[in-house]
Order: sequence, then structure tokens, then C-alpha cells
Amino acid sequence: MLVASSADMDNLIKNASNSEPVIGRFAPSPTGPLHFGTLLAALGSYLQAKSCAGSWFLRIEDLDPPRVVPGAADAMLRLLEQLGFEWDGDIIYQSHRYKRYQQILDQLREQGEVFACSCSRKEILASAPHPGEEGFVYPGTCREGIRGSRSERAIRLRVPDEEIIYHDGIFGEQRQNLERDVGDFVLHRADGLFAYQLAVVVDDIDAGITQVVRGADLLLSTPRQIYLYRCLNLVPPDYFHLPLAFGNNGKKLSKRNGDMGLITRENGSNMLWKGLVFLGQSPPEELFNSTPGELLCWGRENYHPGKIPAENRQINFA
Ligand code: GLU
Repeated sequence: MLVASSADMDNLIKNASNSEPVIGRFAPSPTGPLHFGTLLAALGSYLQAKSCAGSWFLRIEDLDPPRVVPGAADAMLRLLEQLGFEWDGDIIYQSHRYKRYQQILDQLREQGEVFACSCSRKEILASAPHPGEEGFVYPGTCREGIRGSRSERAIRLRVPDEEIIYHDGIFGEQRQNLERDVGDFVLHRADGLFAYQLAVVVDDIDAGITQVVRGADLLLSTPRQIYLYRCLNLVPPDYFHLPLAFGNNGKKLSKRNGDMGLITRENGSNMLWKGLVFLGQSPPEELFNSTPGELLCWGRENYHPGKIPAENRQINFA
């Protein structure tokens, strides 16, 4: 296997930007306040787009109303603004885009790529052949049609028994056999909501996204998204999955794990500093007490994605 050095990798990215404009995005779910894990995704996607004069869009992933915390999106946007992040164009809200998701679902139905499924989660768990990436692998029960008079619950995309292989810009070559590791996956959920996998692909397509930079917790979702691009006859973007930061308790930093790593206006510049260091960017010591704007400016001029370590790590906020 060819291993690209960090300088090669940076050149590849910069050269790509010569031929086509780079369009990146940050797509937080408004399920709580801004924390260090989300800040890393904002910082990595922002620096990668802006360091090669690309655009950086913002999308609020409020697809799942029960999980949305009222006011969280606005608070996050205000804080990002205060920290000096500047995004291009209008902010996209997934909750405004249900019609578009339905259109693409209809298109996939016309192409014969999807089928209705009547299985409950309990039934799938009972008959799943083995544990998969999502906890279970869908065993294909309704592939040839719903049995008897059972009613439709979800709509699934039929997947091939084939390995999807892609090169992640940070974690290297990734492989996943969709049928064996995931199974036919849900595009429209039993509760009537569109699934994340469908929405994220439709949104990235419509925004012309050329590079997706986000947390490594989504490494295993990417093959499903790449397969959706294929069903729609489109070329997927380049993917860069950032290492995850774990707290002292060894758990992924998130709003669910308490207020560890919460970002405020006061600690913002310190957290940005920690973010740059976590992403392997080695800012010079004299910038330690700089303003968020100065840190982002240094980041835009000095960002090297090839320096990002492909390793999830613990971070200490003490
Ligand atoms: N909304 C997802 C999150 O906050 C990120 C989705 C993505 O970047 O594709 O974890």
C-alpha cells in the first residue's frame, strides 16, 4: 500500500483546490451546548476549507425533533461567531428540507432501490445473523415483500454483498461490506422521520460539498453514504475523519457526558488552542494567550491535515 507523507497529503489537497473549488461544511446536531468534540469538527472543517481558499457552509442537523434542544442551535451559532468563525452563504436547516428528502426517496423507489419493511427492532434483533456496525445486521426479511397483512413501518435501501472501499484523508483505507456488516439500511424511519444517512447525503449533494471533515464516530457510516451517492449516480466528496477526544472517564466527549469540555466565550481561546494541538497543528507558544481570531488566522495560514494523528485520544481539561 502506498503511504503518503504529510507533505504529499497537503499538496494533494492544495492541488485539488487548483482544479475545483473546495466546498466544506460543518453540520452540528443542536442537541446541547457546544462542547470540545463539536468544536474539533468545526475547527477541522473550517481550517481545511479556508486554508485552501474554499467555502465553508453551516448546516443545522435538526432532523430529529425529539432530540433537538430548544435554543441550542442559536446558542451554538452565537458562540461560533464570537470565536471568529465566519461561514459562507445561508445556514441550512434540515427541518426545512423534508420535501427534498421525500423527492430523493421517491426517485430511489422509482429506481427499485428501496423496499418497505414491517419488522420491529425486536424482531430484527431476534433474527439478526450476527452483530453488525449498528448493533445488528438487518437479515433481509422484507426484501422480497412484506408478509401477509402486516403494515409498512420503515423504508430500507437494498445493499449489495460488496465491499465499499474508500480512502479517508486521515484514517487511510477503509473497507466495509454493506450486506455483511450493516444490511439493508433505513432511509425513512418507522416514526415517520427521514434517516440521517439519507438527509446528510441529499444535503451534501445540494450544497455541492467536495470535502466532508467530521468526527471519526462517522467512519462506519461513510460506506452507506458512498453507496447512496452511487445509487444517485453521483461522485461522493473526499472524506476526512477527525480523531475523537475522550474525557478522563474514557468516554467520548459529548453533551451526554456532563459538562466536561463545554465551550464558553471565556474559555473559547484556550479551547481553540487545545483544539489546534489535539489536531496535531503545533501552534507556537507565543500564541498561547492570543484571541480566538488570532488563533484561527494562524490556523488558516499553517494548517496541515497530514499532521492530524489518526488516533482517538484522551484530553485533560484541568
Ligand atoms: N450532525 C452530526 C453530529 O453532530 C454530524 C454529521 C456529519 O457531519 O455528517 O455529530
